Amino acid sequence: MSIFQKIIDGEIGADIVYEDGRVMAFRDINPVAPVHVLVIPKSAIVSVAAAVPEDELMLGHLMLVAAKVARDLGLEEQGYRIVTNVGALGGQSVPHLHLHILGGRAMSWPPG
Ligand code: 5GP
Repeated sequence: MSIFQKIIDGEIGADIVYEDGRVMAFRDINPVAPVHVLVIPKSAIVSVAAAVPEDELMLGHLMLVAAKVARDLGLEEQGYRIVTNVGALGGQSVPHLHLHILGGRAMSWPPG
């Protein structure tokens, strides 16, 4: 069971900024930007690479919630970044799909 499943199940705490029946958003425990929030589906899916056509609604909802959370946290005017890491070379460390919302500082491109 991944650490995010334990957060979903309430076994470990998190600083939750949004939750509904399908997704949760909470602050990253090790932020790399002034605002760093993770948005995750409550359904168990390892990454976007594991998504199937039946996940289409969930994936759309996940992205819309990320935009809403960014708006609610005041990031929209200055801009922000949404990232999802996939697998080892992608830098994924938790095997449960998540979007990173990063804001509050200028982002570089390309990422390191
Ligand atoms: P990944 O490297 O898989 O793209 O991102 C995983 C993120 O989860 C990391 O930024 C890491 O800091 C965060 N993280 C890992 N464990 C926990 C935890 O227990 N609570 C919270 N809030 N974030 C976590």
